[in-house]
Amino acid sequence: MDTGGRQVVGDGHHCGGFTLVEIMIVVSIIGLLAAIAIPSFRKARAESHRVSCINNLRQMTAAKELAAFENRWGNDDGPGTIGNPLYMDTISQYIKGGIRPVCPTGASCYYNAINADPTCQSGISTHVYDGT
Ligand SMILES: [Zn+2]
Repeated sequence: MDTGGRQVVGDGHHCGGFTLVEIMIVVSIIGLLAAIAIPSFRKARAESHRVSCINNLRQMTAAKELAAFENRWGNDDGPGTIGNPLYMDTISQYIKGGIRPVCPTGASCYYNAINADPTCQSGISTHVYDGT
């Protein structure tokens, strides 16, 4: 029997290689696993961003309180939302590296006034540090 060079065993099954149906089954299983896994990867990534951002805001609060204490700033002093560079730079000196942290999403974080909590500008509602 001429099989076009392929090895044929017994009742005509081909040896080596996969049939189209087998490949389709494998591809659909991979697709199914990806469909299950990708949303949980996204969730884990968002959660790690949230935890990291809140930790940054906590550090910013500590730095701001220390700067206010050492420089005798009052409650309403401080950089404000837009940011007075003098205050911002002074406060940043109390953070390791001397650089104001940014949100892991790339958004800015502001120190705000002394009596207000620092805020993340990402617009994500869970990126909030309430001082606890
Ligand atoms: Zn953030």
